[in-house]
Amino acid sequence: MTSKRDYYEILGVQKNASPDEIKSAYRKLALKYHPDKNKEAGAEERFKEFSEAYAVLSDPDKRSKYDQYGHAGFDQMYSQEDIFRGANFSGFEDLFGEDSPFGDVFGSLFGSQFSSGRSSGSRRSGKGANLQTEIDISLEDAAKGLKKDFSFHRTKACSRCKGSGGEPGSSRTSCPTCKGRGQVQQNRRAGPMSFYTVTTCPKCHGEGSSLEKPCQSCSGSGKTSEMEHVKINIPPGIEDGMRIRLDGLGEFGRGGPGDLYVFIRVGENDSFVRDGDDIRVEASIPFTVAALGGEIEVKTIWGNTKLQIPSGTASHTVFRLRGQGMPILQTTNKGDQLVRVIVEVPKRLTSRQKELLREFEKEEKGAKKGMFGF
Ligand SMILES: [Zn+2]
Ligand SMILES: [Zn+2]
Repeated sequence: MTSKRDYYEILGVQKNASPDEIKSAYRKLALKYHPDKNKEAGAEERFKEFSEAYAVLSDPDKRSKYDQYGHAGFDQMYSQEDIFRGANFSGFEDLFGEDSPFGDVFGSLFGSQFSSGRSSGSRRSGKGANLQTEIDISLEDAAKGLKKDFSFHRTKACSRCKGSGGEPGSSRTSCPTCKGRGQVQQNRRAGPMSFYTVTTCPKCHGEGSSLEKPCQSCSGSGKTSEMEHVKINIPPGIEDGMRIRLDGLGEFGRGGPGDLYVFIRVGENDSFVRDGDDIRVEASIPFTVAALGGEIEVKTIWGNTKLQIPSGTASHTVFRLRGQGMPILQTTNKGDQLVRVIVEVPKRLTSRQKELLREFEKEEKGAKKGMFGF
């Protein structure tokens, strides 16, 4: 898998950039790297890269999906063709308009790419579409791992025609529209630009052949929608936003089913804050324990444990409980728990306590005098 650069980084904008900022960043880059103008090596690649970034970040829906899932998840949902489908390049007519010297830049840049794009490629091989779903779990579950049952709808091969779409015993004939290729080429206009796209044949839906007699049960689609029940094994140490792939649990396809991607959402916890493999907590200790030392009980995700506080501990000191943090994925190791102690000063004192503290104060002044030799 190729690693792609972050779209925000490509455009040189902040994560919270406004649509106007994104637009103006794109305009600057497009002016600089326009392939008709900039003949430097790599300019065309750059142009494609930031045009893709713009196509995603200028679309609120695609942007929020990208923010949520990152490249890995986003690329599962959208092919390159999908990314540019409906992309709004209006406002750049001066750069890309028909009468401008730049001409039909998008058509020539992306035309060939679209025909070999992932979505058309997967249609040709007939693999079913991937599905995705989300599961919310707690931090405790993420620490301990869990098996979870869930159900979802997906298409499966029709039992009557075994997925062929034809009545048992009937045959298929080559599609007249695409002459058996499964794809047709189209010259599509989007605003000021032309896109040469290769799309799935509308008549045979990419099959390249059509049915003599459609199956009575599925009307020729070859599939039926069914409820699928799955038990998923969520490993200890999983992090928010990670995904688990379940092979073959996607949509039906003639060349085999697609896959199911389960995105794991780990909820926040009131007491424990995850910090990579470590867990951070705060614990309050009485000021007497801070001064004299002692043992306190601390909550960990694995249960309560004892923590030794040395005498003379300052407030906000952080203690490390080794191996009490989150499990490290695919290992038997765990991170640490970091305990920040907050020294509590009593708000109310009994008269006896006050008396004792005044004694303490007096002693303290005497000790200081002695120390400095006054
Ligand atoms: Zn059928
Ligand atoms: Zn066809």
